[in-house]
Amino acid sequence: MSDSQLVDPFGRRITYLRLSVTDRCDFRCTYCMGEDMQFLPRDQVLSLEELYTVADAFIALGVRRIRITGGEPLVRKGLTSLLARLGARPELEDLAITSNGSQLAGRAAELRAAGVRRLNISLDSLRRERFAAFTRSDRLPQVLAGIDAARAAGFERIKLNCVVQKGRNDDEVCELVEYALARALDISFIEEMPLGSISSHDRTRTLCSSDEVRARLAERWQLTPSLERSGGPSRYYRVDGLPSRIGFISPHSHNFCGDCNRVRVTAEGKLVLCLGHEGALDLRQLLRSHPGDGARLRAALVEALQLKPQRHHFDAAEQVQVLRFMSMTGG
Ligand code: SAM
Ligand code: SF4
Repeated sequence: MSDSQLVDPFGRRITYLRLSVTDRCDFRCTYCMGEDMQFLPRDQVLSLEELYTVADAFIALGVRRIRITGGEPLVRKGLTSLLARLGARPELEDLAITSNGSQLAGRAAELRAAGVRRLNISLDSLRRERFAAFTRSDRLPQVLAGIDAARAAGFERIKLNCVVQKGRNDDEVCELVEYALARALDISFIEEMPLGSISSHDRTRTLCSSDEVRARLAERWQLTPSLERSGGPSRYYRVDGLPSRIGFISPHSHNFCGDCNRVRVTAEGKLVLCLGHEGALDLRQLLRSHPGDGARLRAALVEALQLKPQRHHFDAAEQVQVLRFMSMTGG
């Protein structure tokens, strides 16, 4: 039983924080960003010290897993020093990063040494042109080199994240699984969420359900459901006793809110209680008006938890429901 003091009105204990360290990114994935993004002025982004203070408050309240995300976390200057401070906290059972992989070739070993245990790397296609169309960046070779470097660095687990779109990469899911199986990596397939307004595609037409992906994979492999969880919303399957797990993140087709154990803090210090709702508490204002007042920060977090919504209501028929892009919230 967790000793979390962060319990919402539905009895869910919060033990997992996703902390976004930047809204900036060296990619412009079509499902995540517009082509011309306005990024936050630097003084509106939490400093490394403020990020640590927020993480520290959550740890004091029982959070045991932290995932660092963004934007692309590796573009944040000084990230490794923050990771090393968090990596040294004995209370944390897990410190993880979600990255697009573009800089991992040169940085994977440094992240592991700082105490990062698990890595999620986004990979929507193994075909160079497609990858470039998804990310608006022709850097598939760098990402694949980054995955190799991460494997060599000895992380406890590495998981690939793939957003599947009908008519764009749904025909490639078997190749992606083959790639993962051959390297003993986990892989999760994600249904695209209606976050932020985009012009590149019509989400109602490209939505590909996890059931469709699983049906394709089942033509090739026998998938055995697994009860394992990684602390996030993936539902996992195993193949032929191999070490890889195949996961499905299905915000549309299989609501995962009932056992939600997480909250997010954006790069500008907004506490987001649910990915599918606009409401957020401004922690930056609190941090800057009462510097050093940890008790006040913790009390604000406990109180805010009372407002955590029961569930999201993503609906494929509606184009945009939450104006915040995933790059703002942190995936
Ligand atoms: N830049 C890093 C990366 O791409 O892994 C970390 C941040 S990114 C916002 C985190 C995850 O969110 C990525 O796996 C990405 O594919 C996913 N994502 C972004 N926009 C999404 C959307 N609209 N629906 C579903 N997943 C999305
Ligand atoms: Fe950047 Fe990640 Fe968003 Fe792609 S999904 S634009 S890599 S933040």
